[in-house]
Amino acid sequence: AKTLPEKSQDANGSKPKKMAFYVPVSRDPEIQKARMELPICREEQLIMETINENPTVIICGETGSGKTTQVPQFLYEAGYGNPNSDNPGMIGITQPRRVAAVSMSKRVAYELGLTDEEVSYQIRYDTTTSPKTVIKFMTDGVLLRELSSDFLLSKYSVIIIDEAHERNLNTDILIGVVSRILRLRDELSQEQKGKIKPLKIIIMSATLRVSDFTENNTLFKIPPPVLKIEARQYEVNIHFSRRTAQYDYVTKAYKKVCQIHRKLPSGGILVFQTGQNEISTLCKKLRKRFPLTPPTKSRYSNELGQEEEMSLSETLEGIREKLTAKNADVEVEEVSIGDFDITESNDQDIEDEFDTFDSDLDEPSEKDEEDEDLPLYVLPLYSLLSTEVQLRVFQPPPQGTRLCVVATNVAETSLTIPGIKYVVDCGKVKERQYDVNTGVQSYTINWTSKASADQRAGRAGRTGPGHCYRLYSSAVFNDQFPQFTLPEILRMPIEGVVLQMKSMNIDIVANFPFPTPPDRVQLRRAEKLLQYLSALDDNGRITDLGKLMAQFPVQPRFSKMLIIGQQHGCLPYIITIVAALSVGDPFIREDNLDSSKDLEENDKETDEVEDKMREMEIDEQELAGIDNLDIAEKERRRLRRKKFYEVHMKHAGRDPSSDFLKLLNVVGAYEYAGATDKFCEENFVRAKTMYETHKLRGQITNIVQVNCPGANVYVDPKMGPPSSLQLKAIRQIITAGFIDQVAIRKGLLDKTANTYSSTRGIAYRIMLTDEDVYIHPSSVLYHQKPPDFVVYQELQRTSKVWMKGVFNEDRAELVVKDWKEFIC
Ligand code: ADP
Ligand code: MG
Repeated sequence: AKTLPEKSQDANGSKPKKMAFYVPVSRDPEIQKARMELPICREEQLIMETINENPTVIICGETGSGKTTQVPQFLYEAGYGNPNSDNPGMIGITQPRRVAAVSMSKRVAYELGLTDEEVSYQIRYDTTTSPKTVIKFMTDGVLLRELSSDFLLSKYSVIIIDEAHERNLNTDILIGVVSRILRLRDELSQEQKGKIKPLKIIIMSATLRVSDFTENNTLFKIPPPVLKIEARQYEVNIHFSRRTAQYDYVTKAYKKVCQIHRKLPSGGILVFQTGQNEISTLCKKLRKRFPLTPPTKSRYSNELGQEEEMSLSETLEGIREKLTAKNADVEVEEVSIGDFDITESNDQDIEDEFDTFDSDLDEPSEKDEEDEDLPLYVLPLYSLLSTEVQLRVFQPPPQGTRLCVVATNVAETSLTIPGIKYVVDCGKVKERQYDVNTGVQSYTINWTSKASADQRAGRAGRTGPGHCYRLYSSAVFNDQFPQFTLPEILRMPIEGVVLQMKSMNIDIVANFPFPTPPDRVQLRRAEKLLQYLSALDDNGRITDLGKLMAQFPVQPRFSKMLIIGQQHGCLPYIITIVAALSVGDPFIREDNLDSSKDLEENDKETDEVEDKMREMEIDEQELAGIDNLDIAEKERRRLRRKKFYEVHMKHAGRDPSSDFLKLLNVVGAYEYAGATDKFCEENFVRAKTMYETHKLRGQITNIVQVNCPGANVYVDPKMGPPSSLQLKAIRQIITAGFIDQVAIRKGLLDKTANTYSSTRGIAYRIMLTDEDVYIHPSSVLYHQKPPDFVVYQELQRTSKVWMKGVFNEDRAELVVKDWKEFIC
């Protein structure tokens, strides 16, 4: 027999009218006890009344106060999702992260004593939903995709949008869309009495910064009420690092964890890192340093060592496996080009540093370290880990050990790990970034915001006073950390968003109620580009091609290239070019040749230098000017430079008129040579970039496979060079993708003769700006007769505006309808 919890009793008499429906739940007494300690459970009555009386409610509460696990249960008990109630539709909860969607659904199922079908999850490649599902956790991308088949979200009676403070692109768009659906469902429910029910929206946030949702009158007619959940937060002592120079945060975190573990009282440690590779490296080192069962073959290395191996190779293999699974459902926003991890440091380096470090680790003497150290129970936490492994963080560590979780941002507000007393924060975050000028997206590692650093620190104060060790200085925090993270919509290319919206039949995107609207000019430009790409027709409606393109989680210009790339067996080449363009230029600049400094860090500085050097035409003369070098050194540099040119000309190929082909050639040669670092060194390309391109090719291949069933996408990593017919097709395909990035030689417009032998100083005109632009000296076209038309990949501004990644496309004229459009 099911027991009725107290609530129904104290509701006797003073019970609000709409709370009449009640679903009994029998919870494990232990769970019930733990729930009652959560701050949100004290507010159940208020929360449910507010939800019943308002179409939209915003709930703010400190991380760990119980929002994600409890609010769905309140709704469940109040009859939401119950076929006999007034709100028979499912309870839907969106999460920005897969890890959270999976683990939260499991937790809620467990607390309610229901099956994983009744409380299910759906993420990109995996789902437990069934017709029995009452509560469904999903990533925001999954719900966005559902909109294309069921715009009214008629299966749901309530949608909870969780982690709204993160201001993800998907979350923002969802909030805008559901605010519309709310009105539609309301109107329809009045018209068709009884058949369609109104929808409830609950927006949940870990911070109080919700004015973008409440003060935005295009979003909600009446500003939604904001419920603030008071949670006890214990004091957290913040310790800054003295210096931030030489920022190797993996090593720094290792040292800090060692110190905490060896010297400070018991309590879990939570370390924030930016990605899978750093996490794996750090976990490995910590496990080695503080093994679970000291002598050799520990249960640790059997159990967890294996899992670690798996996690490293899982990226590709796991995705591939899951993709071939039967019910693979692909989600638009989640895979994105460039979704791979960045290796920041190689193991050997770290090993070396650790040796020196261990010896200068403060007392006690080294001798007794081995015997006396308490074992450390080290667990990684990031989205690609299997669910079982992820869920371990919630279990108590083995007796006599201390818990240490090394996590990505997912532990910042999505998951609350019990028993954390110490937080070690690297202060960095991996973010998707977009260059407004070039449209190139990438993942970059940046300082996080002050708000998110404070959230991280707060994780140490859940169960008692704690400490947060920031691995950066207070000066860096004060001067370089932004107050808040910019909403993703302002950091992202909009053409993808626009296409996605059009595929949801939102024709006038400018009228869409964005929580933070994108820039209008950018919006218009995006629509124009989509028209050029034939994804939209002249009236701005989505075409069939556009619908297909919207299925690809990559930029529209790339999805177009991938779709039309299927002719003449060009797809493997196009996939390679798209991958390489997404990762970034692998070629080392020649003015970096003599420098041992980190090349990428130097890029910005060197641009100015590069311009100057190019104006002077660097050659032997320039070298001769460097006085303080001895003859041998000068000779060495001269030879190296000569080799550099030879290598570059080699990669440029038989018909050196395209930087894109040079890119294709170098990737081909790299794979042919066995993808070694030695190849990279000899060929003046960056090993890291090459490796990432290699990985991304595999990922894009999977994406194409899923979206174009039947396409012949088998990609032999060591593909042979393209035939001349294929070369021709490849050029056309790239031009089709970069159709708005065609430049015309200014002299052609002025009708001056083209007698030049080099493109140096030759002005071109383009659509994006009314300034003259020039072919960048790094282009293979720099030393050639200036073509009348070129296609370029990106613009870079230094002393002039340079076109980079250029190829000569005399047929560009054929694909451009009216040149006037292109010249401002
Ligand atoms: P919020 O969403 O407000 O941040 P949550 O609902 O995620 O809070 O968490 C409430 C509590 O439930 C936390 O103390 C958290 O540690 C606990 N919790 C969540 N998931 C699990 C789990 N899988 N196992 C054990 N405890 C969990
Ligand atoms: Mg939560």
